[in-house]
Amino acid sequence: MRRRIQISKDIFIYRIDSTDTIVSISDNWCTFADANAWGSSLRPEDVVGRKLWDFIQDLETQHLYQELLRRTRGGMNSRPIPFRCDSPKERRYLELLIKALPNEQIEITSKICRTEPRKTISLLDATTPKSSDLVTVCSMCKKMQVSPEKWAEIEVALVHLKLFEADIMPQLTHGLCPTCYQVAMGELDDFETPNKAIDSDKE
Ligand SMILES: [Zn+2]
Repeated sequence: MRRRIQISKDIFIYRIDSTDTIVSISDNWCTFADANAWGSSLRPEDVVGRKLWDFIQDLETQHLYQELLRRTRGGMNSRPIPFRCDSPKERRYLELLIKALPNEQIEITSKICRTEPRKTISLLDATTPKSSDLVTVCSMCKKMQVSPEKWAEIEVALVHLKLFEADIMPQLTHGLCPTCYQVAMGELDDFETPNKAIDSDKE
């Protein structure tokens, strides 16, 4: 069996088997590994054969994926789920598509829909020194949690948390904001732009 999938640079595909072990990944691994914080120092051959859960470490995102995989294996078709995969210099808007394959395999496709350049956000730069403080970032929309109830676009959150004035940046930890959970679970209508989802309450 071929273990690599050749594909355009804007689409990243991997497949897992019935035990959630990664059985193949597309060739453009490094581009996506960085953005997903999966560790671009890993070579594709280090990734194939490992459990998906080695790469999705926060519990809320794990729970979301587990639920999506369970539904897909149960025969439900999932709609494309919007998510963000930002780099320090770019906002990247992607879609996640989860598809059942024969033999209980699942194919997970991440497709870059569009990107927007922005002023470099040093908080997102892995090489910037970090303090022991933690801030939570939603693993799907990349909003930051600014209070127990509130999540904001990173530029807004930096002002809110006074991080533009900080000498040293906090560490990022990942979680899931309530809006993304609801969208992924199909409890909200698909949103075309992240802003639409923030502005509208559940309808
Ligand atoms: Zn979110």
